[in-house]
Amino acid sequence: MSAIGIWAEVSEGRFKKPVLEALTAGRSFADRESLPLWAIVVAGETLPDNLLQTLADYGADKVILITHGDLQAFIPNAYARVLAQYVKEAGLPFLFLPQSYNGRAVAPLLSIWADAAFLSGINAIPEKEGAGYKARRIAYSNKAIEWIYTEHKPIVATLRPNSFVPAKASRPLQVEAHTIAPLPEDLRARPVKVEKVATDRVPLTEAEIVVSGGRGLKGPENWGIIEDLAKVLSAATACSKPVSDVGWRPHHEHVGQTGIQISPNLYIAVGISGAIQHLAGVASSKNIVVINNDPEAPFFKVADYGIVGDAFEVVPRLTEAIRRYKEQHSH
Ligand SMILES: Cc1cc2nc3c(=O)[nH]c(=O)nc-3n(C[C@H](O)[C@H](O)[C@H](O)COP(=O)(O)OP(=O)(O)OC[C@H]3O[C@@H](n4cnc5c(N)ncnc54)[C@H](O)[C@@H]3O)c2cc1C
Repeated sequence: MSAIGIWAEVSEGRFKKPVLEALTAGRSFADRESLPLWAIVVAGETLPDNLLQTLADYGADKVILITHGDLQAFIPNAYARVLAQYVKEAGLPFLFLPQSYNGRAVAPLLSIWADAAFLSGINAIPEKEGAGYKARRIAYSNKAIEWIYTEHKPIVATLRPNSFVPAKASRPLQVEAHTIAPLPEDLRARPVKVEKVATDRVPLTEAEIVVSGGRGLKGPENWGIIEDLAKVLSAATACSKPVSDVGWRPHHEHVGQTGIQISPNLYIAVGISGAIQHLAGVASSKNIVVINNDPEAPFFKVADYGIVGDAFEVVPRLTEAIRRYKEQHSH
């Protein structure tokens, strides 16, 4: 029987928001195509039902659990191999993957090995058109919307983060277990040691709210005001390229054309001019707030809300006002 598949990536022992977004996208596409939705999990060993239950809670009609000892650690080639093999064996016409770091690594290999058409970074579910499907994505560093058309099947697509709002669609949990081995050549390089360097903050690509600082903050010693605002909003922190280039902030916080591309619900830019290369990574945020002391700063042109003022005055006042508001409304 045919189905819509999504790759349910397990990270840090759970299914994170991008997987829930993929389930929601998959669920509405499956309903439209009158097909069931299957969540495909790849793991080194069998996983407990209470973990897999999340997938059923968000609309998976069935969980396909593919295990093998060589899949214990995430190895892109190995994961792509077993997913491709499953797509072929089951004759899946569609497989959606979150466009996470790992999703980006797996999807291109998987498309080749499954002989699929690859739609990368789509931000809406594909529409049927003629004999094929049309899908929409943000292209050219956020400066254009591109529609891709294919009449080929299977289709493998990665889903741009924050494009779908996770919605529960409860089903009874049904698990089907498979054992598929990767090929020896998929295991040529494998992780041997992982040392965590990032803080326990919300990961940038998954964050609903991002507070970002630029050169206007003058130096790393002033980042406390960004951290405080981020903390009160439960937000992730980001920065412009020059800030990470000079080592004021770690490179994994750099957003833009050459950094991470994000589309949170709220992006707060503090002391950032709004150069085109910066906007390329953040312009698809749902709401943009700009705080800058130069009323001519280009960032104001794309801002939903702007505050012209000194960051060192505005940001602590904003943090304090939000803290007070939260206190008053916490009961
Ligand atoms: C090929 C290429 C790729 C690039 N990729 C990226 C990228 O991925 N990401 C990226 O960010 N950049 C990128 N850049 C760099 C980009 O062109 C800009 O130089 C950079 O974004 C500027 O960073 P900034 O806004 O922090 O600094 P600035 O341009 O120096 O802006 C600082 C801003 O802070 C404001 N300010 C100063 N003092 C205060 C204060 N007290 N209160 C409030 N505001 C204040 C100023 O008015 C100004 O607008 C790239 C450039 C090139 C050529």
